[in-house]
Amino acid sequence: MDLKNKRVLVVGLGKSGLSAAMFLRGQGARVTVSDTRSAVALAKEIPALLEAGIMVESGGHGLLTFRRQDLIVISPGVPMDTPEVKQVIAFGLPVIGELELASRYLQGQVVAITGSNGKTTTTTLVGKIFSDAGVPTQVGGNIGLPVIDLVAGSTSDTVNVLEVSSFQLETVEEFHPRIAVILNITPDHLDRHGSFESYVKAKERIFARQDAKDFLVLNGDDRVTQVCAARAKSEVYWFSGTKAVRRGAFVRDGVIVWVEKEGGTTEPVIPISEIPLKGAHNVENVLAAVCTARLSKIPAESVRTSVKSFRAVEHRLEFLRKLNEVEYYNDSKATNVDAAMKAVASFPGGIHLILGGKDKDSDYTTMTELLKKRVKVVYTVGSAAEKIERQLHGVLKIISAQTIEKAVAEAAKAAAPGEVVLLSPACSSFDQFENYEHRGRVFRQAVMELD
Ligand code: ADP
Repeated sequence: MDLKNKRVLVVGLGKSGLSAAMFLRGQGARVTVSDTRSAVALAKEIPALLEAGIMVESGGHGLLTFRRQDLIVISPGVPMDTPEVKQVIAFGLPVIGELELASRYLQGQVVAITGSNGKTTTTTLVGKIFSDAGVPTQVGGNIGLPVIDLVAGSTSDTVNVLEVSSFQLETVEEFHPRIAVILNITPDHLDRHGSFESYVKAKERIFARQDAKDFLVLNGDDRVTQVCAARAKSEVYWFSGTKAVRRGAFVRDGVIVWVEKEGGTTEPVIPISEIPLKGAHNVENVLAAVCTARLSKIPAESVRTSVKSFRAVEHRLEFLRKLNEVEYYNDSKATNVDAAMKAVASFPGGIHLILGGKDKDSDYTTMTELLKKRVKVVYTVGSAAEKIERQLHGVLKIISAQTIEKAVAEAAKAAAPGEVVLLSPACSSFDQFENYEHRGRVFRQAVMELD
């Protein structure tokens, strides 16, 4: 794609928007960025943009700004049904995301990982397995470093391991990973995607451009991903924590095994007991990573060594400390009901669970049975508190704590030796915090200050 002197508009000045604008400018395009935030809110970004010769529109989107372009690059944070975006699409202008833009320039292979939950953990683990094995590896995408920032460092030998979200997938056209992984699909972000069907459709774009030479790794225990298989042109491999699969990775007698060909021999990769992460959901993440690694010919022994030395990513069921025989875990990244249920299911019982934050139109009643079995007390925080209390009314003891600090103090008082205090809030964080990392840090500090 020759961008020289092309007029390109970048919509949304987040991390990836900023990187995309700089990249486009570097390619000789005439770049404008447009963001609904005020010039004051963008004060940190604006000088560098102007310096690079990029025009900035702040405080709203002008329809004319959108019309005068050859290409629109939209950030994952900006909904496709934003009126200006809808109008330019109707007008016939090409609208792509940063992931699509980057993948047109990225050299080497792409391994792309999506799912409602487990993306960051699996992406980080796959990146470690590849780089431990000596493969020139770059990790990026939704996980932090925008994909466009990987372009400069990529060569034909590079394996680019990308975490991709449904928002990023909404705006891909030619994105074509050699290996695509869908970990699971459970209701999430329905406030933004509108319906479960359109959320699933977005996820499926990860393999839409794949052909018979590519691989698609799917979760054999997830009903929705099973339906996806019928629509794939690539070779489908399965992983399962509960049953044998025809080809892919599964657990047999406590050991993760790999089967390359249907009816072929099973190769032991790593005993479950050697996985240093908590919970059955993390076994699933390891299974998906094993498929990806073995499809890329990384030897089983090397995979085993890498998995053994992997540690939980911060804010993902991360062990903080043990005080008075009570363990504290930070799972602030559990921003939906399914993720929180996985965390709860990782402990046999005696859980003091902190729930709440900003509601995403979630149904908390689906947690009822599990909570009854494993959780002693729920401590509610944030703006979703009232809804959670209403939906879980009569199920178990609920303390309305309002803030994380108060919840930690109450839980520490109530927890008996051998029990667990778990922040796994099932909600996003934007009511009381900047993001889930901020919420996790506040939790950590409150926990560390206990004595
Ligand atoms: P993502 O990047 O998709 O949000 P993370 O790896 O950051 O995923 O994990 C987020 C949370 O989701 C974790 O804290 C954990 O509670 C839960 N989780 C992790 N892996 C899985 C999985 N395979 N299935 C369901 N829930 C998971």
